[in-house]
Amino acid sequence: MDRFDLVKESFTRKEVPAEIPAGKTSDWYGELVFDRAKMCKYLDANILQDLLACIEGGKALDRKTADGVARGMKVWAMEHGVTHVTHWFQPLTEGTAEKHDALIDYDGKGGVIETFDGSMLAQQEPDASSFPSGGIRATFEARGYTAWDPTSPVFILDDTLCIPTVFVSYTGEALDYKTPLKKALKAVGDAAVPICRLFDPAVSKVYSYLGWEQEYFLVDEALYAARTDLMITGRTLFGHNSSKNQQLDDHYFAAIPARVAAFMRDLEVAGHRLGIPLKTRHNEVAPNQFELAPIYGETNLANDQNQIVMNLMGHFARKHGFVVLLHEKPFDGVNGSGKHNNWSLGTDTGVALLAPGKDAKGNLQFITFFVNVLAAVQKHNALLKASIASATNAHRLGANEAPPAIVSAFLGRTMTEVLHKLLEVPSDTPIEIAGKKGKTLGLVEIPELFVDNTDRNRTSPFAFTGNRFEFRAVGSSANCAGAMTTLNAAVAEQLLDFKVAVDKEIAAGKPTNVAIMDVLKPIIRSVLDVVCFDGNGYTEEWRQEAIRRGLDVETNVPKMFCEFTKPAAVEMFTKTGVYSEKELIARNEVKWETYIKKVQIESRVMVRMALNHIVPAALEYKARLLKEVTLAKELYGNLDNCTAEMTILDEINRYVEQVRVRAIAMNDARRAANMTEDIYQRALAYHEIAESFPGLRRPIDKLEEVVDNRIWPLPKYREMLFIS
Ligand code: ADP
Ligand code: MG
Repeated sequence: MDRFDLVKESFTRKEVPAEIPAGKTSDWYGELVFDRAKMCKYLDANILQDLLACIEGGKALDRKTADGVARGMKVWAMEHGVTHVTHWFQPLTEGTAEKHDALIDYDGKGGVIETFDGSMLAQQEPDASSFPSGGIRATFEARGYTAWDPTSPVFILDDTLCIPTVFVSYTGEALDYKTPLKKALKAVGDAAVPICRLFDPAVSKVYSYLGWEQEYFLVDEALYAARTDLMITGRTLFGHNSSKNQQLDDHYFAAIPARVAAFMRDLEVAGHRLGIPLKTRHNEVAPNQFELAPIYGETNLANDQNQIVMNLMGHFARKHGFVVLLHEKPFDGVNGSGKHNNWSLGTDTGVALLAPGKDAKGNLQFITFFVNVLAAVQKHNALLKASIASATNAHRLGANEAPPAIVSAFLGRTMTEVLHKLLEVPSDTPIEIAGKKGKTLGLVEIPELFVDNTDRNRTSPFAFTGNRFEFRAVGSSANCAGAMTTLNAAVAEQLLDFKVAVDKEIAAGKPTNVAIMDVLKPIIRSVLDVVCFDGNGYTEEWRQEAIRRGLDVETNVPKMFCEFTKPAAVEMFTKTGVYSEKELIARNEVKWETYIKKVQIESRVMVRMALNHIVPAALEYKARLLKEVTLAKELYGNLDNCTAEMTILDEINRYVEQVRVRAIAMNDARRAANMTEDIYQRALAYHEIAESFPGLRRPIDKLEEVVDNRIWPLPKYREMLFIS
């Protein structure tokens, strides 16, 4: 089959209808998750009490409770035809891990019976020696174990009962994303509660919330299979721009193509059955790019749900003849994909801490959290950037489409004015809701609704959007936990420091509101000067200004990771109990290793495709032109009629030679890099190799323009990007 057959096949692919259960969404919502309703139905009253104490009070799960829970869970699972069980965890690879065990055991009479008990629920020892650990588990002590996280509900996927677990080494170090995330969420909650109690003693818990927006591309599976680069690296390493791509903005929010809509519908139904509140779907900016977002929820659960959805996407895309691309930059020249992390804090009394309050007291509380978040982002701006950095996200950062490689915060006009005003007035000035007291001079006012504040600055990596911050730099393929762990931990540290300072002022005899504002004022002055920026983040002037302000402007990904082991980060992470220094060092090793391997694989694929796919096609065309020229010479006795052929031949010769020389240079660079002993130095060497990719790509994309369309071996951008 040649390229044209593949394109034809993808265009004529029949639409497969989505499978939608009878009834309405609320009828099947959550049916495959062991949620509170199921707990009440399937567990004995005392077991339920004990389990809730684990979930809400953070009590450890004992064997008796685990057995009781497993008993009820088994009944529920069998009703849904479950035959297998797995501990489902999030190692430091991409995606999730699972190892299934059938629910059978000998019955002593020559047959088998279904079994599932507390020990299978609570803990497992997967032979996990092949997961990255950054040297934490020496091979002679390769064991790690997984343990149920009762705050994440158990769910059913197909025939398997999935138990969300943490994954840790026998010496207690985290080997996954979930463990540190849970610690960071606890840290931020514990740090926030005493501050909330200054305003309302009834507060006993503070939750961190996450609402992710997942961007992705769909490509036809036949064309995907013809692109070695897409299959192996998740992105196209070559491909000339299509004449039309996103310049007309005609894809964004456009009608969803029927085949895509059927895919989305299947995905939503599956998500809803798993209790994932999928809410928004739409076409994104680039052709064949889409977005999906749920209603926000508690961060640990929301992150599990994102991981589940990413898996489901791959599954349902196949059903509809697509492959889903979660890579941050599958196609050059059109937008890449991110995963905005909408983040906020809220109390168990139902107060949103990053939204204006009902009265002056509520507003002071809002300003307190708002300003402290900004302070944390300012102090750890380089670290936050490091938390979203990866070999794949590097293609978005700094490009004129995604947040720039400088972490600053966008407040919008209203909040900027409020902060300036607060610096001018006495510390006991009440912060009122606009309009409530009429227009009074000297009063600080906040509009209750931030309609004008949702004016979006798309260039800002960390934007306030009325009741939350949107951390926009997170990559589409990332586990949100990387960014969420760092953000929540950084905010926790800031809140701890803030509380100490306020307590000192109160002890000195100041009223609470004055004490709070007196501590806030210098912080406000500082964040307005440094981290707050409402202008265009894509300009060179901003980069220069950011350097002047002392913000980090590093774009080299392996170098960014060094932030994690600098004293300020080690102090922050250890003080909040999120990572030990040993874990930070180990995780950096994993990050460098992953970076190296990603670039290494891409580089290999690039060179092989250049030499095995592209150069032969170019030479085939060259041979044809040479034959024509020879015939012309024979016929006319000169080359007067062959100007076009001769020009094209020159171009082919030039580009093919560039490809050859650069491919060899890239192989040599890789060989040299592989000899570098130190892993960080090796990662830096691979960074140089990544920087040389465009040099090899350019002559190949030029050849695509020159070589006969009929013999070009790879599906082109214009063929892949407009099929649905
Ligand atoms: P947009 O693309 O306009 O930014 P979307 O509707 O696509 O907005 O996504 C916004 C996300 O933010 C949703 O997941 C939404 O539930 C979430 N969100 C809304 N309010 C909050 C909040 N207070 N805390 C965290 N996430 C929130
Ligand atoms: Mg958004």
